[in-house]
Amino acid sequence: MQIYADNAATTKMSRTAIDAMTSYMNEVYGNPSSLHSVGQRAAEALEDARERVAANLGAKPREIYFTSGGSESDNQAIVSAATFGAKKGKKHIISTAFEHHAVLHTLDKLKKQGFEVTLLDPHECGIITAAEVAAAIRDDTALVTVMYANNEIGTIQPIAEIGAVCKERGVIFHTDAVQAVGHIKINVKEQNIDMLSLSAHKFHGPKGVGALYSRLGIPLTNIIEGGAQERGKRAGTENIPAIMGMAAAMDEACAKIDENREKLVKMRDRLIEGLSEIPHSIVNGDKTCRLPGNVNMCFEGIEGESLLLLLDAKGVCASSGSACTSGSLDPSHVLLSIGRPHEVAHGSLRLTLCEENTMEEVEYTIKAVKEVVEYLREMSPVWHDLKEGKKQYVIQ
Ligand SMILES: *Cc1c(COP(=O)(O)O)cnc(C)c1O
Repeated sequence: MQIYADNAATTKMSRTAIDAMTSYMNEVYGNPSSLHSVGQRAAEALEDARERVAANLGAKPREIYFTSGGSESDNQAIVSAATFGAKKGKKHIISTAFEHHAVLHTLDKLKKQGFEVTLLDPHECGIITAAEVAAAIRDDTALVTVMYANNEIGTIQPIAEIGAVCKERGVIFHTDAVQAVGHIKINVKEQNIDMLSLSAHKFHGPKGVGALYSRLGIPLTNIIEGGAQERGKRAGTENIPAIMGMAAAMDEACAKIDENREKLVKMRDRLIEGLSEIPHSIVNGDKTCRLPGNVNMCFEGIEGESLLLLLDAKGVCASSGSACTSGSLDPSHVLLSIGRPHEVAHGSLRLTLCEENTMEEVEYTIKAVKEVVEYLREMSPVWHDLKEGKKQYVIQ
């Protein structure tokens, strides 16, 4: 038995996406910049993909730029808004403490270049409010960047409200929507989103391709210099097969959002219910205002890494937080940001489902996690101290 419950790290490609890709590898192999007919067929495919990606977001095709993925889109959006702001003397940026590292590390780079960054802390439920964003906006604020849905705890932010606040105050609003696109309905115009990052491999598309939506009127700064592809804003021969695979996967995911959500919420809530029976455990993030497939919990007295290895041995692929920080001994910055103490944050487990998971897999996973947590606690000196009252439980 192999249960894949790490869909926030990456997803399996859908048949539709694979088929779309292979046909563009076999047949339409031209370079869209070539003037001959083979090239022009590729150029037509590229514009067709751009229209479809735009339509799924409620954007205009000219507002879509293809990139190598979520990280590149985040980098380009933030650097562009910062550069634009700096020209008008605006060098203040607002974000949150639980963003993805593609955002946080870009902000660190800008800090070294003289920008001032305000990072808002989410509430214990893993959500920040539009009022908190409004209170942080200053006359010199160039950009607000707040993720749509958190990649570790799955909590969904009040994006439309934050967008409205930014619009009213004339501040550019970017959202890292990598976890949200294909899972939650998005309309950039209705939600007042100026810039949005997305990545194909988080919705059953190929890895290494994504898009940046940037509202007309916001000047983009190049991250990659070279040819005039993507209207001069992103050089490099377009990865047509990947872009076509992304468009196909996005069409499919966006068409099935409601159907998938209904299925996923049942499995998610059953997982939370079953795992909450484990004593001294806690759910991270709001229980309902979260991605339909996301479960994230802490179990006191265990190490997340050991839990993952033993679960893997039982056939369950899970994560302790983000794939990007595993391998380091630091606890998740996301769990720390919602106020979990270090020793609790170390005992975290993230299970992220997709519509292909089944209720049988959910029941098996609950049983496996219960067994492994019990086993690890039996071996843990910390757990024995807690049981004997030599130490106080943090999670009641
Ligand atoms: C996965 C992810 C990214 C990075 O996307 P890549 O395409 O892997 O570069 C950025 N932000 C969030 C929230 C993510 O989940």
